[in-house]
Amino acid sequence: MTAAKRAIADALVASAIDLAADELTRRVQSTRPEISPSTVYRVLDEFEELAIVEHAHLGHGATVYHLAGVPHGHLVCTGCGLSFEVPAELFDPLARDLLERYGFTLDRHHVAVAGLCERCRARDQDRRADPSH
Ligand SMILES: [Zn+2]
Ligand SMILES: [Zn+2]
Ligand SMILES: [Zn+2]
Repeated sequence: MTAAKRAIADALVASAIDLAADELTRRVQSTRPEISPSTVYRVLDEFEELAIVEHAHLGHGATVYHLAGVPHGHLVCTGCGLSFEVPAELFDPLARDLLERYGFTLDRHHVAVAGLCERCRARDQDRRADPSH
C-alpha cells in the first residue's frame, strides 16, 4: 500500500494536467503493473480525506484528480471536449456577487464551466456564414 501511495503521488506530481482515474492507473502501471485500479481508487479516496488531492468534474467526462494546492477553475468545451485550467481569481467577481446576493459560497474548482472553445466558436461562425460547408 505504501509503495502504491508513493507511485500514485509521484504520478500526480509529474502530471501538469488533472488526470482521470483510469489515465492515472495507466501511468502508475507503466512502472508498477501490480497496482490494481481498485487500489488507485482507494488511495485517491484516502488522499482526498487528507486534503492532499482534489477532484473535479469536466462536463460529461470522467472525474479528474490533482494535487490540492494551486487554486484553479476548469473550462470545458461542449463542442470538442477540450478542457483547460484557468486561475481561480477569474471567478472572484462572480463569487462576491453570489455571496452578497444569495449568501452562497462559490466552489471555483469542483465543477467545470461549460461553453465553446475558440476553435469551435470559429467553426460555428463559419458554418453560419456559409451554410454549404
Ligand atoms: Zn483541477
Ligand atoms: Zn465531485
Ligand atoms: Zn471546442
